[in-house]
Amino acid sequence: MPASTRRTFLKTAAAAIPASYAFAQSSKITTSKLDEKIYMLSGAGCNVLAFTGTDGVTLIDGGLAQNASALAEAVAALPNSAPVRTLFNTHWHPEQTGSNQPLGMAGATIIAQENTRLWLTQNITYPWNGQKFKKFPKIAQPNKTFYDKGALDSGIRYGYIPDAAHTDGDLYVYFPQQDILAVGDAAYGQGWPFMDWWTGGWIGGIVGGLQRIQSTANRDTRIVPAQGPLLSLADITAQADMYGTIFDRLNQMLNKGRGPSEAVEAKPAKEFEAKMGNSDEFIRSAFESQWAYLSPDA
Ligand SMILES: [Zn+2]
Repeated sequence: MPASTRRTFLKTAAAAIPASYAFAQSSKITTSKLDEKIYMLSGAGCNVLAFTGTDGVTLIDGGLAQNASALAEAVAALPNSAPVRTLFNTHWHPEQTGSNQPLGMAGATIIAQENTRLWLTQNITYPWNGQKFKKFPKIAQPNKTFYDKGALDSGIRYGYIPDAAHTDGDLYVYFPQQDILAVGDAAYGQGWPFMDWWTGGWIGGIVGGLQRIQSTANRDTRIVPAQGPLLSLADITAQADMYGTIFDRLNQMLNKGRGPSEAVEAKPAKEFEAKMGNSDEFIRSAFESQWAYLSPDA
């Protein structure tokens, strides 16, 4: 379903859904070395990967705008650092795109899946909490987009995660030499994921995205989510099983004509809460996401 028709439908479907997303405020950046050329920088709002290649630095995601200068300082302090020539946006969220403006002004290539660029060219208001996101000025928008996949001269490969796992513009970046796979928010490193069904994510997409990562990664691949610690293939498999179970249960409830509050009360993620925390907000939004994805065009 195109986003525009989905939005039209959701204008009537959107109930008051509690805000489920706390934006990180920290500007203290910590750096960990994953490889001679690849560092993970944490504390800017999301995990940022920096690849220090011979032709400049490539960044995967750019943190929140308020942390952009702290992040830039941390990148400049890396061994063999150089100007940032390439920035990937794994999706449009502010935690990923806060360095777009300064790096765009500095002439960097900003790579994103085309749907991510489209979201950044319009104002967005979340129906569940009224939160607003202003469209980006041209200089801060992705200036190199793709639909399916691509590769850089450095050997870095990237591609679309078309399942609508987190948004409808999720991408992965793979470093074949180092066997490191960055997946943005298509896999969550900690707690229940934020379910952004307004811009295309849905519970079935979480399952599909995880299965796609499962088939892309091997046993030794280090998988870098946007939030939380590194994941292994075993972690991804466990997540795919868990979300698959939850999806089946929610789908059954949907088919029986149940609503989001009934879904929350039924506790379909009960056995996972000891590890994952209270699931009520996630279940409510995951149920809503089924409406968003499966409803016929309104
Ligand atoms: Zn996100």
